[in-house]
Amino acid sequence: MQQVEENSTVSPIWLKISKELKEKIPSQFYEGFFTNITPLTWDGKELVLGSNDKRIIQHVEKNYTKLLESSLQTCTGTKGKINFQELSRMETTPTDNMQKNFNKTTENFSAYSTSNNIPSTVTNEEKGKQMGTVQINPSYTFNRFIKGPSNEHALAAAMGVAENPTKYHNPLYLYGGVGLGKTHLMMAIGNEIARKYPWLKVSYFPAEIFQNTLVEAVQNKTLPYVRARYRDVDILLIDDIQFISQRAEFTQEEIFHLFNYLYQNNKHIVISGDRPPQQLSTLTDRLVSRFQSGLIVDIKPPNLETRMAILSTKAKEANLQLPHDVLRFIAGRISDQVRVLESALIKLEFVSKLEKRPVDLQMAKIALRDLPSKEVSNQISIEEIVRVVSQNFHVDEDEIKGNSRVENVALARHICMYVVKQLIPALSLSKIAAAFGKNDHTTVINADKKIREKMDQDEAFAVQIREIMESLRY
Ligand code: ADP
Ligand code: MG
Repeated sequence: MQQVEENSTVSPIWLKISKELKEKIPSQFYEGFFTNITPLTWDGKELVLGSNDKRIIQHVEKNYTKLLESSLQTCTGTKGKINFQELSRMETTPTDNMQKNFNKTTENFSAYSTSNNIPSTVTNEEKGKQMGTVQINPSYTFNRFIKGPSNEHALAAAMGVAENPTKYHNPLYLYGGVGLGKTHLMMAIGNEIARKYPWLKVSYFPAEIFQNTLVEAVQNKTLPYVRARYRDVDILLIDDIQFISQRAEFTQEEIFHLFNYLYQNNKHIVISGDRPPQQLSTLTDRLVSRFQSGLIVDIKPPNLETRMAILSTKAKEANLQLPHDVLRFIAGRISDQVRVLESALIKLEFVSKLEKRPVDLQMAKIALRDLPSKEVSNQISIEEIVRVVSQNFHVDEDEIKGNSRVENVALARHICMYVVKQLIPALSLSKIAAAFGKNDHTTVINADKKIREKMDQDEAFAVQIREIMESLRY
């Protein structure tokens, strides 16, 4: 391991040189190349600069040596030479990383910084370990994430990262409202990478913890250790970036440099937030534009179908039998948060155990009375009506939509038309007919008439139809 010498004169000289450089070259180049360079020694003739990234050294040596030498002359008054030295560690080849993991206990790591008066070598890994890292929940996996039109882009992007870390979508920025699965997806990336690429180091931090750790590090004068620790990752997952506050502005600087560092070293960054980056009013512009340079995908509230799929999956996982009308009732009442769907299930499970009977619609209505709910606007679809009728009258959906004149099939088809006409009044008769493969709107008028008559004559039938409509209406 390379020991970095503290040198009492090198830091102030480098500070002057970097100040000059900042004025002379575009900031993205300065940020890109010089924040990863550390002054090592200055003996009055030769200034040695170090970086742990070979490519940066090669690039700076090739393109900036002249500029650096002239700055050196301006700043010291002597004509000196610039030389470079590669510092060991932080390569990302799998074998290298595997080695790293095996050697963890004996390993020390270096903290690099462009600023002066910072100790350059850390020999106590414990300090870094005390930072607030957060355990990744192993149950948040991709295969437990239900896909729907509201989240399929986010899911695909997250899977892309896990599939091929550092190749695609860097940084990936996921945003969406509370309880829509951002944390689930971020952790799924972590879990998948741990499974597929166990040698890669993944770190997950809620942004608030991340920021607090930096603030504390400054207070405790452990910033270099913390910084080094943060840099020593292959995949960095930062959740809820909206909680980075304005107050500690230096932390945003720090994060910006960290991102540049990771980006340049081919590491992957995934960020989540509750809004698109440009609406993060507390973040500095350059941090925002850093996020904007990658892929940005949103997660919307799930539609009714997806909510039902999520509920039914989670109910199965909890070994809870939920009849279709109950699923429909819950998914209809709770429209914007997956987390609330889950608490509905927990409540139902509880009541069902308490009352020692399976869940039914009545139980669900009472048990979920005080769950937060939003009126769901007319989201009922013909598909859904067909499905519910099909289940209640034991006729295949395909048959309902087909041409069979068998009595019970025709009846089910007529019920569907009647219910569609009642529940989706905006739909014209000819459109309803077309949905059932008929090109004559009188079919719907006849169906409507037949069902009304049957309901008048047969109270049990009438009750059944009203129940179906009620369950669909929620
Ligand atoms: P966010 O971080 O966006 O606030 P979470 O990731 O914490 O939301 O999700 C809230 C809960 O909802 C979690 O338990 C998560 O597993 C679940 N959840 C959200 N979306 C889905 C989905 N599409 N499929 C399965 N579970 C989901
Ligand atoms: Mg979250």
